[in-house]
Amino acid sequence: MIEKGLLIVLSGPSGVGKGTVRKEIFSQKNNAFEYSISMTTRLPREGEVDGTDYFFKTREEFETLIEQGKLLEYAEFVGNYYGTPVDYVRETTDRGKDVFLEIEVEGAKQVRDKFPDGLFIFLSPPSLSELKNRIVTRGTETEEIINNRMNVAKEEIEMMHLYDYVVENDTVENACEKIKAIIIAEHCRRERV
Ligand code: 5GP
Repeated sequence: MIEKGLLIVLSGPSGVGKGTVRKEIFSQKNNAFEYSISMTTRLPREGEVDGTDYFFKTREEFETLIEQGKLLEYAEFVGNYYGTPVDYVRETTDRGKDVFLEIEVEGAKQVRDKFPDGLFIFLSPPSLSELKNRIVTRGTETEEIINNRMNVAKEEIEMMHLYDYVVENDTVENACEKIKAIIIAEHCRRERV
């Protein structure tokens, strides 16, 4: 029987650098896990490609996916839906491959309920002011959205204790190394029996 793959969830406040850390991890060819591309109703940012960065959907399409039970989890975040396709996650873990999700905190909570055996990693900012700095310098959001995101971030940071590991994103390199080490260690821990 094939051993099921591990479900790895990277979460944390918006702007903390989850996307950057995830992209850096997946730019390295030697990792043994697959990225689950999310669905969203947000419009593509410049340079984003449908089917690579996200599957971009209309609200109607997204709500149909919800009704059909096609999402492992979903959340509405600053006015847009984001969700994880359940079939991809189940098929990949059933094949024995690890799946890596990069999602916000509400969605991670839903995954915890359905996959309590998952590996949950919280990426934390060095400080709240540093977090605001990062969202502002990204330059893709209006002031209203930045303020909304900061309010959500404060609530999200309070959920940190629900995770298996907390990794501070001081530098992208350090955070990537720590996350990869955690995944290796988790496999060693689970395979010892
Ligand atoms: P952004 O609009 O900056 O790409 O993403 C906004 C937030 O949505 C980020 O915190 C990102 O991690 C999160 N996100 C991306 N995909 C998903 C998903 O499938 N489900 C949930 N719950 N959040 C997601």
